[in-house]
Amino acid sequence: MKSHIKRPYLYVAVVALLAACTPSKLETHYVVPEILTDESKLGERIATYEPHLRGKKIFIDPGHGGEEPGAISPNGVVEEKEANLAVSKFLQGFLERAGARVYMSRVGDETVGLEERAERANEIRADLFVSIHHNAASNRTANYTSTFYHAKEGAFEYEPSNRDVARYIQRDLAYAMRNSGGLGSFDGTYSDYWIYDGAGFSVLRNIDVPGVLVEASFISSDFEEPRLALEEFNRVEAWGIFLGIAKYYAAGFPTIEYLGAEPDDAGGAILLYKLADRTGVDPETIRVFVDGKRTTSFHYEPTTGVLRLPFLTMYFGEHVVRIIVANERGNHARPHRHEIEVEAVR
Ligand SMILES: [Zn+2]
Repeated sequence: MKSHIKRPYLYVAVVALLAACTPSKLETHYVVPEILTDESKLGERIATYEPHLRGKKIFIDPGHGGEEPGAISPNGVVEEKEANLAVSKFLQGFLERAGARVYMSRVGDETVGLEERAERANEIRADLFVSIHHNAASNRTANYTSTFYHAKEGAFEYEPSNRDVARYIQRDLAYAMRNSGGLGSFDGTYSDYWIYDGAGFSVLRNIDVPGVLVEASFISSDFEEPRLALEEFNRVEAWGIFLGIAKYYAAGFPTIEYLGAEPDDAGGAILLYKLADRTGVDPETIRVFVDGKRTTSFHYEPTTGVLRLPFLTMYFGEHVVRIIVANERGNHARPHRHEIEVEAVR
């Protein structure tokens, strides 16, 4: 008798369990910043960055294309090459509105070689190279934003200014997408040696201009797939990258200029360099290398910004002076490797 009474309850319980096991459909979630919905306010905001971006040559590299689709989303809704290009075009629009001169490695669904992408950025002496990609993993819940710079601290190829750019882009891009930065690094920026030790990414290895590579999110993610298929979201993503670039240039970086050499008392020479920055050079950050070896025998005069480097002329031949310096906001000067030739005085 008792079992007879309980049966309806049991039945209900079983149905409820089944419902809980059915996969719930993921909601397409993203936030459009208010500024992107108001054209006149957007124009005003972009105009604030114009003094810092006008005339800058920015080379945008939408990853893959043509015969190389890149990664494909789990249900085949979007190919990486499409998302990369869509984001790149919106980024081009924002940058051009701010007066930058934008170059693209491709503007359509074309196959472009990796070396060719780097060569073209080098040819135009780009101020900045930004390669745009979306990541992939076999785990369909993996999803985060990462920004790569070439090489790592201590390596000859490492340039701290690339990491500075990476940090700015990573911060605003991750925030715009509402993604975290992954567990491999504290701030979401990574050395490309983390992926290919000692070599890094082809495009970052082959450029001789400053640059970064963005893996904006995981196209293989069930959560990300429907977002990346939306133009409105592609634009949000581009806005994040734009803000990173704009804020980096607004914070600025020191410049290094070779002023010439003057004779010293010992019959040698002193090389003179001028370090300048709009907001101020941080003297504590100055590092000088001669032929790859660090030297502390230099003098920096903060009031004039002149760095004096005594140079031993006993070594005839070619030498390289490398100077690293940051401004008070922590941004480093662009790569400075000064080649000098010491000749015998007749
Ligand atoms: Zn890719």
